[in-house]
Amino acid sequence: MSSNLKNFKCLIHFNETQRGSILSEYLTYSMLHEMVMQKFKLEANAVINLSFKLSSFDFAVDITDDAEVTDCVQTKKKLKLVISLKLSLKMDLSDYEVPRVLVTCRNDNEVFEMLFIAIGASIRTFLNYLRPVLMIDAAHLKGLYKGTNLVAVAMDGNNQIVPIAFGICKGETGPCWSWWMSVLKECIGDNPNLLFISDRHAAIALAVEKEFPLAFHAVCCRHLMMNLGLKNKKRKGLFWKICKAYTREDYATNMNTLQIVQPDAHEKLCRAGPQRWSRAHCPLVRYNYMTSNSVESVNACSVIYRKEPVLKLAETYRAMVQEWYYKRRQLAANMTYEITDWAANKVVKKMKSATWVVKGVNAYQYEVSDGQYIREVNLQTGICGCRKWQLSGLPCGHVIAITRFLGLTDCVHYVADWFKKPKYQATYSESIHSLGNMQQWEFPENIQKAIPPRMDNPQPGRPKNTKCIQS
Ligand SMILES: [Zn+2]
Repeated sequence: MSSNLKNFKCLIHFNETQRGSILSEYLTYSMLHEMVMQKFKLEANAVINLSFKLSSFDFAVDITDDAEVTDCVQTKKKLKLVISLKLSLKMDLSDYEVPRVLVTCRNDNEVFEMLFIAIGASIRTFLNYLRPVLMIDAAHLKGLYKGTNLVAVAMDGNNQIVPIAFGICKGETGPCWSWWMSVLKECIGDNPNLLFISDRHAAIALAVEKEFPLAFHAVCCRHLMMNLGLKNKKRKGLFWKICKAYTREDYATNMNTLQIVQPDAHEKLCRAGPQRWSRAHCPLVRYNYMTSNSVESVNACSVIYRKEPVLKLAETYRAMVQEWYYKRRQLAANMTYEITDWAANKVVKKMKSATWVVKGVNAYQYEVSDGQYIREVNLQTGICGCRKWQLSGLPCGHVIAITRFLGLTDCVHYVADWFKKPKYQATYSESIHSLGNMQQWEFPENIQKAIPPRMDNPQPGRPKNTKCIQS
């Protein structure tokens, strides 16, 4: 390989025929990979670690024909459709292998490169007792070597964060995310029910697509909103109504309103692919998780530790998980209801359906008039026409009205198992153990030593942090 391929810049442009979000099917990692292979006439078996940075992900990119871009920019005729950006591509052509150990060194120099940590108990918790939703995010480290901290979290039945995996790498690049996700896949496997939620960083999108081809990658609606240029609070409220709509009818009604009041935002949302951000259109169940706020709050917890050396940071993470497991195990042992407090609160809020009119169809099917709509409910299949029941796992007002109609004392039976006592107690049944004093550790003789890393400087362009907007 010629060395001038290692760093280069080229122009990209929005090609109308390939328009679409980078997160959508219009532009996949393999397409981008292929474009680079063709452009530089690389052999099919060349190993490429491709990472790139864009200032906007709202459009597909086409890097196959720079001349066309230059022409367009010069003539300024097609600028409305064709806008140019600079794309920095870093190609690392050194051999890249996925090690099977937690801490790995690349090259002969034994330089520390990346770290992946997953505690076995957390992985088993996730696979057995938690909803298959993972939020992933990165935060910049402030210590001597800078670098980036990667985190994946899931949520328990009490809507509390459960850290699943943790990592440190040199920067938020494609190779780093891909390696980290590949080790995560060794722990949890890939499956078609798995949902990832993250911001729209291109490296995350590529890593999910490459390492978890069966899973679905949804985007954080808060990050999406930041790119829409919504003019006022009312429009932001409208945006949240659209994202959170359970039915496609509600979604369409509010989207139509947005199209009238701010057509550019409407167009951006359409291009981003509604299945990525709309609850009504998501092919999997998003529950109440429209943002990646939870994972960012874990990063916020570690903010004071981010100046610490790698081992200290890793131990801080482990100790945090140990403490959370301990406290929640106590909480689970003293549960008041058959469902978690959070789920109970949610259900209570929906108990305003006393005046709703219920008519029976048969033993399982009912018709509930809520003053605005008539919804059909099937207690056997767990489906209500409003879709809240099946998309949240918690009974909607219609189901609650039926339980009242049937003279039942509660509606626990209609709450999904994720929120019930046995699952919640099992979530924290395993203990996370202390590592003890390092002075007392027994080190194997052939232990591999790592020398300090070469970390990248933090990348610009990430939102600093993090006024969480309620989702
Ligand atoms: Zn309903």
